[in-house]
Amino acid sequence: MTTENPLLTEWKTPYGLPPFAVVRAEHFAPAFDVALRQHIAEVERIAANPEAPTFDNTVAAFDASGRVLARISHLFHNLCSSETSPALQAVERTMSPRLAAHQNAIYLNAALFARVDSLHARRDTLGLTPEARRLLERVHLDFVLAGARLDDLAKKRFAAISERLAELQTTYSQNVLHDESTWVLWLKEERDLAGLPAFVRATAREAAQQRGRSDAWAITLSRSLVAPFLTNSDRRDLRERAFKAWTQRGEHAGEHDNRPVAREILALRHEQAKLMGYANYAEYALVDRMAGTPAAVARLLEQVWTPAKRRAAEERDALAAMAASRGEAITIEPWDWRYYAEKVRQVRYSVDDASVKPYFALERVVAAAFDCAERLFGLRFVPCPDVAAYHPDVKVYEVRGRDDRQVGVFLHDNFARATKRGGAWMSAYRLQSRIAGDVLPIIVNNNNFAKGAPGEPTLLSLDDALTLFHEFGHGLHGLLSQVTFESLSGTQVLRDFVELPSQIFENWLLEPEVLKRHACHFETGAPMPDDLITRLEQARRFNQGFETVEYTACALVDMALHAQANPDGVDITTFEREELARIGMPREIVMRHRLPHFLHLFASSGYAAGYYVYMWAEVLDADGYDAFLEAGSPFDPAVAERLRQYVYSAGNTLEPGAAFRAFRGRDPKVEPMLSKRGLAGAPASA
Ligand SMILES: [Zn+2]
Repeated sequence: MTTENPLLTEWKTPYGLPPFAVVRAEHFAPAFDVALRQHIAEVERIAANPEAPTFDNTVAAFDASGRVLARISHLFHNLCSSETSPALQAVERTMSPRLAAHQNAIYLNAALFARVDSLHARRDTLGLTPEARRLLERVHLDFVLAGARLDDLAKKRFAAISERLAELQTTYSQNVLHDESTWVLWLKEERDLAGLPAFVRATAREAAQQRGRSDAWAITLSRSLVAPFLTNSDRRDLRERAFKAWTQRGEHAGEHDNRPVAREILALRHEQAKLMGYANYAEYALVDRMAGTPAAVARLLEQVWTPAKRRAAEERDALAAMAASRGEAITIEPWDWRYYAEKVRQVRYSVDDASVKPYFALERVVAAAFDCAERLFGLRFVPCPDVAAYHPDVKVYEVRGRDDRQVGVFLHDNFARATKRGGAWMSAYRLQSRIAGDVLPIIVNNNNFAKGAPGEPTLLSLDDALTLFHEFGHGLHGLLSQVTFESLSGTQVLRDFVELPSQIFENWLLEPEVLKRHACHFETGAPMPDDLITRLEQARRFNQGFETVEYTACALVDMALHAQANPDGVDITTFEREELARIGMPREIVMRHRLPHFLHLFASSGYAAGYYVYMWAEVLDADGYDAFLEAGSPFDPAVAERLRQYVYSAGNTLEPGAAFRAFRGRDPKVEPMLSKRGLAGAPASA
């Protein structure tokens, strides 16, 4: 008996959504087999074309290849993140090395690269549209950076290094996971819980129950549990124990020690960079970034580092004064910072979750985000209650533009559940393109909010609400995309540009007129009071010295680590200690991610020599938002239209510097970011 594999048939579903109801884990491996073979055959046909290479028969054809594989991959990766199962995880383990090898097979295809390379050499004479020329340049660069120009021996070594790196990076992240899931601080009696608010107790109880104990509370090393514990626990001795365990993840001798793993990763990356003709890995990694060179990154970070340390020293003095006023004669240690900072925050701004959450019911925040998208870009989100996604909690919307035409589909998946990974992210089931007819984007936003009890609203904290706006900004980047070629679509931009559409969108949440209209009390319906709006705005600059120092130290150490002339045999713990001493790291603050558990750098190579990108994009978004303030309205139509055209709709069709200039009328300035963080000019008043 044969049954059709639903992954390989045409999807006759509303909007061409995946047929979620009939797809099962066992469909993926056989469907991938077919799709991978098909993609290789498509690419080989392009490479073996007897006709001379043209843009259409080579570059456009390459862009259009692998659509079946893409459709299956999007669905697979989305389900693995949002609604996984042991069966899917097993497929994931077997598929990830095969998908990596597939990439190598494509990008090391010499005949295909020869065609791309010959077109690239003649790019000025081909009469290409700007977008086609951009695609040719991007495809060519992808091939070059993947080793296509190397001789055969070097290609072999490059591929072998890539495979070994994939293995080491998996080991590195599993070691961190191991330390996070095995270490537990057990709280057994009321005095161990001193200071913990109800939501921390509930999460800790849940964590204990998952470990088979209902007579205690468990503090694990996951950030969502240990950070609120360090912020609220009155027990200084327990804070110290938890903090030390948290900051030593991956740094224990034995089988889960990340120090030798990181050492080998660094040596292999360096070898790869040398093979490619670069002096070190940082230079190689920066080739395809907006920043371009390590020196440009250093110039940005240097402007931030010294004022941030000065600000952090002032904050430390305020924490010490707070401790003294409570009769606690202590020197502020790293495990004290979050605790006393919270005390200072409550006294100075009288802002805490309890006073804010009633105004941020989930539906209200979603309505605010949709309303901002409509006022800025003319989008309307029409609920489709009859269209089912992969989980009953996922809401499906048809997105329509100003002319009422459909522009895409939006899936909103807001609640935490055991089958979903932590964090918040945007992803796509289908990317926008026009080369083979109008293909509309299908975009998903994932959050991990704790769902309200039955009959109760889900109330968000300010951080949660900002996260929702952030991911929605990424979502708009996917939905508003208007490009011809799929590989230039939506969020597939340079890594130090991709956080601009998301970070800038956060600004609209805190606009007083948005809060007045949407942040209404869930019981009384009353709008948020003016004085609370003011206090929220003032509290935004609070503790920015600390946050800037713990972030910027990471970015500085990352760049130094990957810029070493010879990283052979480097001990990451020693390197980190010496580098922090050199840059004058305040003793009360620890890097946000220390090197033995710095997943951005070592769980994959995407953010290696790239942790700076958040601050790079923050320069763009702070300066970009000022364009609205200068125009006199956060919804100024002319500024919004430029933002849509050159940022949200442009995908990767424009060089990012040119895109920003077209939007802003000039190059970005760093001052708005510095002042937003309270690091410029006169100190921010309390
Ligand atoms: Zn983001």
